[in-house]
Amino acid sequence: MYCSFCGGDTATGDHEHCRSRLSRIDPPRYCAQCARRMVVQVDPMGWTARCSRHGERTSAEAAQR
Ligand SMILES: [Zn+2]
Ligand SMILES: [Zn+2]
Repeated sequence: MYCSFCGGDTATGDHEHCRSRLSRIDPPRYCAQCARRMVVQVDPMGWTARCSRHGERTSAEAAQR
């Protein structure tokens, strides 16, 4: 798994800061499964991030986890 904030490997390094940034305020920038840069769109309802390989993630989904 990769850090969706900085794109680094979650097994190495400290991503505590990244996780706190990703709460609901900042959309993820990198796909957690392949570390590709995602296409992020922000709208009044939240955000949508799309990986060309793994599809869309939304802020609504992230809030449920
Ligand atoms: Zn990170
Ligand atoms: Zn992906």
